[in-house]
Amino acid sequence: MKVLIAGAGIGGLTAALSLAEAGIEVTVLESVREIRPLGVGINLQPHAVRELIELGLGEALAATGIATAEHVYTDERGGILFREPRGAAAGYHWPQYSIHRGELQLLLLEAVRERLGQAAVRTGTRVVDFTVDSDAVCVQLVDRASGVRSELTADLLVGADGLHSAVRARLHPSEGPLLWSGVRMYRGTAEAATFLTGRSAVIAQGAGGLTFLAYPISQRVAERGRALVNWVFQVPIAEPGPLAGEADWNSPADPAELLDHLDQFDGWRDHWLDLPALIGGGGPILRFPMVDRDPLPSWGADRVTLLGDAAHPMYPVGANGASQAIVDARVLAYRLAGMGESAVGQLADVRGALTTYEQERAAATAAVVEANRVMLSADGALSTVTDDYRRATGAEVERLNGRASLAPRAARNAV
Ligand SMILES: Cc1cc2nc3c(=O)[nH]c(=O)nc-3n(C[C@H](O)[C@H](O)[C@H](O)COP(=O)(O)OP(=O)(O)OC[C@H]3O[C@@H](n4cnc5c(N)ncnc54)[C@H](O)[C@@H]3O)c2cc1C
Repeated sequence: MKVLIAGAGIGGLTAALSLAEAGIEVTVLESVREIRPLGVGINLQPHAVRELIELGLGEALAATGIATAEHVYTDERGGILFREPRGAAAGYHWPQYSIHRGELQLLLLEAVRERLGQAAVRTGTRVVDFTVDSDAVCVQLVDRASGVRSELTADLLVGADGLHSAVRARLHPSEGPLLWSGVRMYRGTAEAATFLTGRSAVIAQGAGGLTFLAYPISQRVAERGRALVNWVFQVPIAEPGPLAGEADWNSPADPAELLDHLDQFDGWRDHWLDLPALIGGGGPILRFPMVDRDPLPSWGADRVTLLGDAAHPMYPVGANGASQAIVDARVLAYRLAGMGESAVGQLADVRGALTTYEQERAAATAAVVEANRVMLSADGALSTVTDDYRRATGAEVERLNGRASLAPRAARNAV
């Protein structure tokens, strides 16, 4: 079987590694001409870390990210309200990692190129359209440098092309704009002194829904006795509704936009985290609207499916976007591996495996999208809020620790 993946992001690259493990031929088509370590910090939850460890990436992850030990909830003055153990400290068999998104993407890219060959990822190649017949999917491409159009055929196309997915737009042409929560996020990174355990994520709640988050993301910097701190300000500025403007991950912000909000967290200046110094450190500040979409009634059709943000963009409040993309990738490979040799290439069998994957992941990820919305507006006791989130997203410790492996070889053994 031959699979084309649109998008060499976190989900697309994990899918490439997983499908290759299942003995499937994969090419990843990436729109940008050079994959650079863009973005700031993200979190990988234990359910995703388990999958990456099973893909043989455990050592690389441990050398790159920080194994988060706790989430510490505070008031606007830094007074601690509630501490929640995370990852291995919470009893999971796998850690939670806080990690730079770009470093994670490069780590995955290196593994794909090493295992599948340099030609497995074609950069500067934008997927613009596709047609399907009973034998194959024909994918239309545009070379970003020359504008030249070309085509590739395969048994299957996976749209892992993120928030502004071209594959999703082609499958669901009448969908409206992204849905904005009304919250604007300001994000950046800065080197600072280590705080709390050195593996703590801080969530500080100010008045009117203003929230500040900070967590260290670099093991290399930790080894020098310092912290590379990822920080985020969540600022409610409008009523929720359809997004009118752009949602660009790389949009720069003027630090002056944050000064008013900083006043509210003034008590932090002499505290264990010097918040004004973090923000005023001179590093780039990125601005992004917190958006999602309502879950789709169906994801794909025929020989085409979706994965990650292309399938289910979600608010980052539960720190689950990258993790859900990784689990999608693993379930997709597991289901395709489970088809067995005889079924390869037959449209009915391909669609059967894709339907099983889509049904399983659509239900699970719709629950996460909803739980993130609930969490954003939650004002209950913090322990209840986080427990409810874990239950709603199926992330209870016993449930994950007891679940069977999603490695493709496990699917083959089950056939
Ligand atoms: C540049 C960038 C920076 C980001 N920074 C952050 C961040 O700081 N914090 C955070 O929480 N999340 C960030 N994200 C989003 C985060 O990576 C995802 O929410 C999550 O990891 C799910 O991954 P995904 O693979 O579904 O999508 P993504 O990681 O967004 O990957 C999608 C990939 O598809 C490519 N692509 C898009 N359209 C096409 C097309 N038509 N043809 C071919 N390729 C296409 C994109 O260039 C990208 O490489 C960022 C995404 C990008 C693209």
